[in-house]
Amino acid sequence: MFQSLQDKLDKALHNISGRGKITEINVAETVKEIRRALVDADVSYKVAKDLTKRIQDKALGQNVLTSLSPGQLMVKIVHDELAQLMGGENVGINLSSNPSIILIAGLQGSGKTTFSGKLANYLKTKKNKKVLLVAGDVYRPAAINQLKVLGEQIGVEVFSELENKNPVEIAQHAIEYANQNKFSAIIIDTAGRLAIDQVMMDEIKNVHQAVNPQETLFVVDSMTGQDAVNTAKAFNEVLDYNGVVLTKLDGDTRGGAALTIRTVVDKPIKFISTGEKMEALDVFYPERMADRILG
Ligand code: GDP
Repeated sequence: MFQSLQDKLDKALHNISGRGKITEINVAETVKEIRRALVDADVSYKVAKDLTKRIQDKALGQNVLTSLSPGQLMVKIVHDELAQLMGGENVGINLSSNPSIILIAGLQGSGKTTFSGKLANYLKTKKNKKVLLVAGDVYRPAAINQLKVLGEQIGVEVFSELENKNPVEIAQHAIEYANQNKFSAIIIDTAGRLAIDQVMMDEIKNVHQAVNPQETLFVVDSMTGQDAVNTAKAFNEVLDYNGVVLTKLDGDTRGGAALTIRTVVDKPIKFISTGEKMEALDVFYPERMADRILG
């Protein structure tokens, strides 16, 4: 995960950490290298610039120059700032309603359906919920089948209406069914498209208004870099979602999306998906991610 960013940050911090005494120029050079590493990792220039300015101010403010181990202090400052950039604290999923209704949105191919299965598995095994998965993609029968296969694999029931082409009705029927059968969590997988378009946005907005979910999670492929950030912005304008799910972090992603999304949409990353298996889901902790980035 983020190998190239890790290597570059490691190199930048290594250059400074070997020194017993450092100068303001050493700090400025290190900060510049950090900024370059972040921009290369697809972090937007503005975010990288603001972040490295904070790192520099903190380093000089905390007397890095006179510290006994300036390198270590510098690593700590970078770590704390990275964690802060990604939100600081973990924000968990809200499961306070019964049933909890969770709406999953995102582009086609982002990993929505896979994540819906993983979340169902997580809620069932870790949170003791009786979960209903809802197949809300009315355009692709294959997506409904995919959800059914996942449901079978994890032992979670899947609600679908093959003949019905109205996603609002399907969602409403699913909620009625869940209430009658005492399900405690409902996960609604929605249709995505390859790019943002008005029909998809109107449709997801209608479903959102009709079901009034406790949680709306936006799923985005972390491999798509700056596009991920732009998509996050567009969905946020329409849905005002509660949290972001970053998928495919097991791939060769540069990390820009993980580091930039919070700043751009001010919504917490709640989960990260790191593989195709149902267990490959992690609750997102900014501190832990900063640890991983700094190796
Ligand atoms: P959807 O169109 O948004 O529902 O996307 P899918 O859930 O069908 O996922 C698209 C493809 O990405 C599938 O081949 C998934 O197996 C794969 N995929 C989903 N999440 C991950 C992940 O975290 N890591 C990897 N490597 N592949 C993933």
